[in-house]
Amino acid sequence: MEKLYEGKAKILYPTDDPGILLTIFKDDATAFNAQKRGQIQGKGEINCAISAALFQWLASLGIPNHYLDQPTANQMRVKAVKIVPLEVIVRNIAAGSLCKQTGLPEGKVLPFPLVEFYLKDDALGDPLLTRDRILVLEIATESELQQLQALALTINQHLIAFFNRCHITLVDFKLEFGIDSQGELLLADEISPDTCRLWDQSQSDPQARVLDKDRFRRDLGQIESAYQTVQQRVLAELSSRL
Ligand code: C5P
Repeated sequence: MEKLYEGKAKILYPTDDPGILLTIFKDDATAFNAQKRGQIQGKGEINCAISAALFQWLASLGIPNHYLDQPTANQMRVKAVKIVPLEVIVRNIAAGSLCKQTGLPEGKVLPFPLVEFYLKDDALGDPLLTRDRILVLEIATESELQQLQALALTINQHLIAFFNRCHITLVDFKLEFGIDSQGELLLADEISPDTCRLWDQSQSDPQARVLDKDRFRRDLGQIESAYQTVQQRVLAELSSRL
């Protein structure tokens, strides 16, 4: 079938059912708004497996999301949604663009989880939005924003506890949401080492502890084995539950 959309890490295909889409997870990796490009061997299958496991587990906790099933190792069938053009980022520890833009030192534990909204627009470089800018752009209403913020914070609490059981610290992560044909707000996209910062609690060295796409962004090497470590720990933790 003709693809519906190709993003940096995934391709979306229609299916015979208009309510269902097929997502193919790619090995392609990009960073800094696609200025840096490469491949991470096996990433598609790893991210698909991690996302599928986390989506099923979150659904069991009452977090509605788009996951349906996983026909093959790098394919996920999802409910068709209209994506809300926001990247919702939750931060527990200072890293990445927060440090660059505010001068906070990397690794500083934040006094409360910080929820940020960025415009999902590559051409504009995904700018950080303010609440009023979101209202002016009519991307979401005040009450939808509150719903997104509350949902993001609930997901954060679940994921912090989950990754702790994997001996991994959840530094920050990005979520995307969509609206389905019934008008319900669903968690969408993926949750993987591409979209989370994850630090290995058994390592104190600031480079050795990195288990996420920062290994690619910062040329730290051993990217594949870091992603495999996350997959092994996540699947082992969920093996008795799913
Ligand atoms: O770059 P920054 O520090 O703002 O990223 C915060 C978190 O959001 C990181 O975990 C990063 O991987 C994720 N992110 C993402 N997609 C983007 C921007 C950030 O998954 N387009």
